[in-house]
Amino acid sequence: MKKPKIVAIDDEIDFIDMLKDYFELRGYEIEVTSKGVQGIELINNKKPDIVILDLKMPGISGEEVLKLLKSKQSKTKVIFVSAYDDAGKTRARMLDSGAYAYLDKPLNSLKELEDVINRAYSGEEA
Ligand SMILES: [Mg+2]
Repeated sequence: MKKPKIVAIDDEIDFIDMLKDYFELRGYEIEVTSKGVQGIELINNKKPDIVILDLKMPGISGEEVLKLLKSKQSKTKVIFVSAYDDAGKTRARMLDSGAYAYLDKPLNSLKELEDVINRAYSGEEA
C-alpha cells in the first residue's frame, strides 16, 4: 500500500527527531522542521498528504500555518499534536478551521499517531 507523504512542524526538536526516526524506519517519506516559515516552504515544495503540526511555536503559529495550508492545498490533512490546553476551545477552533484531528501531547504512543495518519490518508472521518 502506498504510504502518505508527511511534513512535521514543531519547535520541540526531540519530538520531530523522534517522528523522523519512527516514520522513516516504517517506510514513510517524512520531512521535519522546527520553524513555521520553513514548514510552509516544505509544504509548498513537497505537497505532503499529511502535516503534523504544533500549535505554539515562535514566529508563525500552527493556527496560521493551518489557515495558509487550507487556502492553498485543501486536500492536505492536518493533524495537530499539542500540549496546549484551554478547556478544549483551541481544539474546537482548529477542528472547525479544517484540521483533521487534534491530539494531546505527550502522545500515548507513536503508533497512535500513525493510526490517525493512516485513517486521514485513507479518507476516513476522524
Ligand atoms: Mg511548541
